[in-house]
Amino acid sequence: MTTVVFCGYCGKELGEVDHSACAKRLRVIDPPRFCSACARRMVVQVTPSGWTATCSRHGEITSG
Ligand SMILES: [Zn+2]
Ligand SMILES: [Zn+2]
Repeated sequence: MTTVVFCGYCGKELGEVDHSACAKRLRVIDPPRFCSACARRMVVQVTPSGWTATCSRHGEITSG
């Protein structure tokens, strides 16, 4: 089974290009814009406690 994982910030495949800058952005403040499983653009909502990002296929993730 091959699992392709996509960058949550730029939507490109991990391993294809260097995503260290993306990872830094995501760690600091930015919610992910793309689903890491399918690279669909997610619906992002900022909440008082952080954010939620919803993929139409894979559901919702939150900042925790
Ligand atoms: Zn990236
Ligand atoms: Zn998805």
